[in-house]
Amino acid sequence: SAKKAGRNCHRYFEPQMNKWAEKRLEISSRLRKAISENEFTIYCQPLLNIKTGKVVGAEALIRWFNKEEGVTPPDNFIPISEENGLIVAIGDQVAELVLATAVKWEMTWGSSFRMAINISARELREANFVDRISRQIKKYNIRKSSIEIEVTERLLLDKSDKSVENLLKLSLLGLRLSLDDFGTGYSSLSYLQKYPFSTLKLDRSFLKKVPHDRKGAALSSAIIHLAHSLGFEVIAEGVETEAQYRFLEQEGCDIVQGFYIAKPMSVQDFERWMEQCCGSVDFDTPPPAKQI
Ligand code: C2E
Ligand code: MG
Ligand code: MG
Ligand code: MG
Repeated sequence: SAKKAGRNCHRYFEPQMNKWAEKRLEISSRLRKAISENEFTIYCQPLLNIKTGKVVGAEALIRWFNKEEGVTPPDNFIPISEENGLIVAIGDQVAELVLATAVKWEMTWGSSFRMAINISARELREANFVDRISRQIKKYNIRKSSIEIEVTERLLLDKSDKSVENLLKLSLLGLRLSLDDFGTGYSSLSYLQKYPFSTLKLDRSFLKKVPHDRKGAALSSAIIHLAHSLGFEVIAEGVETEAQYRFLEQEGCDIVQGFYIAKPMSVQDFERWMEQCCGSVDFDTPPPAKQI
């Protein structure tokens, strides 16, 4: 009977649920330890101006290094940290790392060099988020326009008043705001009108099969042109091939980011990479990233 089947289902799922709950508890306690023992670091991936061939900045991507577990990628711990609230403490550490690096790199590569930092919905909802970040920025005495805050498009589904207010405050403060993963499912063009973004990051899913996939190419091209006509800068993420690079160049995309240019690198490797290519990449010769 249906009742019996229901019970069977129940019995079948329960142990799984407990296992999952246990796993989450375990990750939470490992995360707490990671926070107190500073196991987080940032990897940086170059942002390349496609017209000038110059590296104009970097996106900071969190990495969790642990002696026993090795590296855990963000997708395996960021969502859980958002649920249990630990993302606030983690985000604080990331911001410290990013700002310390940004100060150093601004001195090395000039005041227009920018660093992008990812923040999650949970952080943006915090009442004192803007105060904390602005205190950190003061402490490091960095130009506000050198810092770009990336929020994913999905985050804007959470239309809590606090998030909206904080986004506006961040932009009034003079930080750059960029809309990450643009086009990943909940796209509403009205977001572009409503929120003070300066940059739109075209999600890599559009580019996957470009230029062979005509629909993907048409969508990418339409988004680039639409964004430009609205006054946004466009960054294409996930650029892996020369064909994608050439396509984006032709479509007038402003900035490219992806394995074709370079993978995310430790701060030290990033510096070495920049020295090696003198901060600009000439794609008539093979990209230096391939040599590392
Ligand atoms: P995202 O912000 O969209 O970052 C881009 C992701 O694409 C990164 O993955 C990057 O390593 C990867 N990527 C870059 N170029 C290519 C490419 O050519 N091909 C492919 N297949 N992938 C490429 P990662 O580092 O694993 O980060 C995943 C996501 O985790 C990020 O997506 C971001 O949403 C989140 N995240 C990363 N760092 C932080 C952080 O410090 N705080 C928060 N709240 N979230 C973060
Ligand atoms: Mg991002
Ligand atoms: Mg992205
Ligand atoms: Mg993405």
